Amino acid sequence: MKYGVNEQGYYGDFGGAYIPEMLYPNVEELRQQYMAIINDKAFKDEFESLLKDYVGRPSPLYHAKRFSERYGANIFFKREDLNHTGSHKINNAIGQILLAIRLGKKRIIAETGAGQHGVATATVCALKGIECVVYMGEIDIERQAPNVARMKMLGAKVVPATSGSKTLKDATNEAMRDWINNPVDTHYIIGSVVGPYPYPDMVARFQSIISEEAKKQLTEHTGKALPDYVMACVGGGSNAMGMFYHFLDDESVKLVAVEAAGKGVDTGHSAATTFLGKEGVLHGSRTILMQTDDGQVVEPYSISAGLDYPGIGPQHAHLYKINRAEYVSITDEEALQAGLLCSQLEGIIPAIETAHALAQLEKMAFKKDDNVIICLSGRGDKDLATYIKHFGF
Ligand SMILES: *Cc1c(COP(=O)(O)O)cnc(C)c1O
Repeated sequence: MKYGVNEQGYYGDFGGAYIPEMLYPNVEELRQQYMAIINDKAFKDEFESLLKDYVGRPSPLYHAKRFSERYGANIFFKREDLNHTGSHKINNAIGQILLAIRLGKKRIIAETGAGQHGVATATVCALKGIECVVYMGEIDIERQAPNVARMKMLGAKVVPATSGSKTLKDATNEAMRDWINNPVDTHYIIGSVVGPYPYPDMVARFQSIISEEAKKQLTEHTGKALPDYVMACVGGGSNAMGMFYHFLDDESVKLVAVEAAGKGVDTGHSAATTFLGKEGVLHGSRTILMQTDDGQVVEPYSISAGLDYPGIGPQHAHLYKINRAEYVSITDEEALQAGLLCSQLEGIIPAIETAHALAQLEKMAFKKDDNVIICLSGRGDKDLATYIKHFGF
């Protein structure tokens, strides 16, 4: 695959595994085994069967008629919002729990910001009867009470991270520390296409089911497998990478990745990584991240917790640098308006993360027969309080 990872774990200048020496055995075990495990027939059969009967795949490719009318092109929504637990995150969580079991692991750890990845992880641990510990910043625990309750109801232990800014970055540090201390029995489920190699490649493969299905479904709808545009929002970049994956080598397909501009890219309250960031190392890989001149990570800001991340996965950094995909950004306000529009034109309340991708449609100029696929990464139930606060319903 032209844009895939090489044997050293790099995408062009980005990727690799920049980890403390004490983590080396854990990451090395994963690196040596992940491809053999996920290519094994029994693994594939179980993964496919759970995606079908537990997650509810294939997710539909829906021709959004009123959106199509408004934007003057054929707009299709890839409905990851209809998955069990409400977003694409479950695809990766299922893949990783099956992998962990085959590695002989007895205990799962994860980090979570808003709690979406924590809920997906707690769900698959309940499904498989495996101990689950989720690290979460103390501040996020206060802000995201419903997801904390969900994780506890599913049987997970939620451990507060009390250092630093008490948010996602600190939860990640705590999870890393746990993994170092429990190298034999514990697997760390990372929730996006970030982290040391092999995580970015492994998570992209688990999410690639999105574009695998979409290609077939577009053929059924239009007689053509290749759309003109494929669009998705980017936090760490896993739904976007899943949506891009099987179109990467089809150079005629334009890939559009939408980041969160927050209050605006030059307000100091933003998460528009490619616009504001520089090359450096974040969470174990070389990528593009928001940092000060002396290399301190800048606190990101976005109204949507899933996009509130100071970096992007290394494969995205590569696609950005070589111009294979276009990276743009959308403000909080633009995203909220797009969320409202999608609700009222299509009867679908999207996650605010997803609404960023929808908002980008307003800025594009399509030809009449263009086919456009947007990844509808998640549903908006979790964001209702934010929508209510903004629109005053
Ligand atoms: C977590 C999340 C995202 C952002 O994560 P990616 O890894 O960039 O996909 C986007 N949409 C939804 C609904 C999410 O829950």
